Amino acid sequence: MSPRVTQTPATIPRGDRNPMPLTEIAAPVRRPVESRDPRTGAVWRRFEAAGSEEVGAAVAQARSAQPAWAALPAGTRMEMLRRFHDLAYARRTELAALLSRETGKPAAEALATEVVVVLDDTRFLQRTIPRLMRAPWVAAGSRALIRKRVRVVPEPYGVVGVIAPWNYPFMLACSRLLPALATGNAAVFKPSEFTPSVGEATWQLLVDSGVPVAVVQLVQGDGAVGAALVEAPVDKVFFTGSVRAGRAVAVAAARRLAPCELELGGSDAAIVCADANIPMAAAGLAWGRFSNAGQTCVAPKRVFVEADAYDRFLEETSRVVASLRVGAAEPEADVGPMIRPEFRAVIEAQRDDALDRGARVVCTGDAGGPAFPPTVLADVPADARAMREETFGPLMVVTAVRDASDAVARANASEYGLSASVWSRDTARAGALAARLEAGTVAINDVLVTAGVPELPHGGVKQSGFGRTHGEAGIMACLRTRGIVSERMPGRRQEWWFGYSARHLAGMDAFLRAAHDPSAVRRARAWPALLRFLFGSRRSSCR
Ligand code: NAD
Repeated sequence: MSPRVTQTPATIPRGDRNPMPLTEIAAPVRRPVESRDPRTGAVWRRFEAAGSEEVGAAVAQARSAQPAWAALPAGTRMEMLRRFHDLAYARRTELAALLSRETGKPAAEALATEVVVVLDDTRFLQRTIPRLMRAPWVAAGSRALIRKRVRVVPEPYGVVGVIAPWNYPFMLACSRLLPALATGNAAVFKPSEFTPSVGEATWQLLVDSGVPVAVVQLVQGDGAVGAALVEAPVDKVFFTGSVRAGRAVAVAAARRLAPCELELGGSDAAIVCADANIPMAAAGLAWGRFSNAGQTCVAPKRVFVEADAYDRFLEETSRVVASLRVGAAEPEADVGPMIRPEFRAVIEAQRDDALDRGARVVCTGDAGGPAFPPTVLADVPADARAMREETFGPLMVVTAVRDASDAVARANASEYGLSASVWSRDTARAGALAARLEAGTVAINDVLVTAGVPELPHGGVKQSGFGRTHGEAGIMACLRTRGIVSERMPGRRQEWWFGYSARHLAGMDAFLRAAHDPSAVRRARAWPALLRFLFGSRRSSCR
């Protein structure tokens, strides 16, 4: 089936403001996108997916609207951020309910890990973008360029493509869309096919905050639609999702030599030192591993515990897991169902493979209807699938290690490098261990939080991708630079221009000696020859 993308009146209620009626563009086959309730499996909304022609049209519309958007005073776009903040705050309860309905996560989690992160980030962007986009003239540092002034002007890429996953569909989409739009880019946004309603609500918030509909385009559809967006002439691609799809995006972007940033999967390590507050580490890691039904990129998927604390840690973790209310009705549920029942099979296979290789089940929570029971496996060997692959469900794998160095070596023996955590009462020691971990971010005595601090760049190393969201790096990812250099004495020729001669060669050498000789005495001695060259009889001006 050919790729489909959508942009219909159903998905864009205010689409009548679009100058080009996208629904009139012929699209031979359409693959619908469904909003499903993971708790019941029931489909409660359908969206029409659109064709690659529609993706192209969305990009073209965005491109024609972008220059006017970028030309607005920065304050106007900061005002958009302020309105977005206030609207998202006002709609927080309905957003949390929608997130819960479409992903299966508890509404309290939706507030704590999505809505609040977006609200905080919006404020951070408002305070930071104007400073990062200032472009003062400054003197060039080189002595050869003493008459030059330089200016580094950050400017938007133009039209960016934003492809988002389903697990934190509001927070992850906003972490790219808000800085991209606020720095003057237009965006074509493709939410996950599993969370089209959250995608639409995100888009609606942006439009209601003052972003013109042509500047932020919504395209609904599955991976084929994402692929069509990467093939379309967008100026940069921001992709968040699996390694498998990320690799396809990177290849497609490379074919066009289009820049892309990839936020991919992880198999985060947690190192629990023997001196850690074990009940706290167990409670924190259980939350990090089992919240969002274990479907979190930065969840602690491999837990390495120093041998002295191993039994205590397993005991405390079992206690936490036994207390979890799995699959209960809102607002009592701690753990909801996985987003699709078919994803359980992968987790079951990873669990069974570990058991076949000698691991043991320490505890398993309540099955809770369609929910997968939160499960803790101990003694999981390094060659088990759960140690080598990303486990994207409520499965915690725990292994005893000789000491913290052994834990670091095992943690780093992974293709992934998204995030990690270190648990110890000795924060200096924990900091030293953090510095040895191959990960984009590390939390000390906490978990998941690295993805929610607005000032902290979030992103991975190794197969976990490249690029950063959040922090100044996340803003700069939306900007490229235009460098401008200006001559202070425009009537004067440059000494290095044509007119080469023995005198010119000696003058150049005197300049190098005056500027770069390691000896201060020799540098001083070069000056007479340099001055003769600069103010001698050579043509020095053009009139
Ligand atoms: P996914 O790769 O299946 O899909 C992500 C998005 O990409 C969806 O919108 C999908 O439609 C689209 N897509 C799929 N194939 C594509 C292609 N060939 N070209 C373009 N777009 C394509 O991932 P998912 O199942 O939605 O999300 C779970 C994965 O995302 C996990 O591996 C998780 O660790 C990772 N993730 C990473 C981060 C991070 O910040 N590093 C955050 C969240 C999720």
